[in-house]
Amino acid sequence: IPSATITKDDPGPRDAEPGVNSTLERVLPVGTALVASGHPLHPDVTKPCPFCLRIASGDVESRNSLAVAFRDQYPVSPGHTLVVPSRHVTSLFDVDEEELKEVWSLIGEAKLRVAAERQVDGWNIGTNIGDAGGQTVHHAHVHLIPRYRGDVEDPEVVYAA
Ligand code: 5GP
Ligand code: ZN
Repeated sequence: IPSATITKDDPGPRDAEPGVNSTLERVLPVGTALVASGHPLHPDVTKPCPFCLRIASGDVESRNSLAVAFRDQYPVSPGHTLVVPSRHVTSLFDVDEEELKEVWSLIGEAKLRVAAERQVDGWNIGTNIGDAGGQTVHHAHVHLIPRYRGDVEDPEVVYAA
């Protein structure tokens, strides 16, 4: 599938078979509705961005005007939370100051929520940028990771989030 050449702005050649969807829709059955709505996709355009999908679904723990927070699907510790700008941007370097404020505000709220649930002894806050930086979801996000005394042998070793 020549997906790399197919983008929202350049949907590639269309064979106008009546009743048949465009080339774009046939090669992108999952992302079609999102593409059609102008919704951003993961750089691998065969997959919609999981965080944009979650934001669109409304299934988030908290939100403010520019950001949302939800639990990590594969938590590295109990309470592991992701705080994400609502706008699809690739990394924290692409987040503007207003968004950063809102992201930080949700980090503070999430911290209080997690701390109310269980005895937390410490925290890691981090973000991975780029494949080489360990980023697997290419929608900017900050990891809020509660730490528990004795959870790993050497607490200076930050979890690979
Ligand atoms: P990264 O490796 O990009 O810094 O972090 C991506 C994080 O997103 C990982 O911790 C992973 O467990 C989490 N994750 C991946 N897909 C989903 C998803 O569909 N929903 C949620 N809630 N978390 C996800
Ligand atoms: Zn996204």
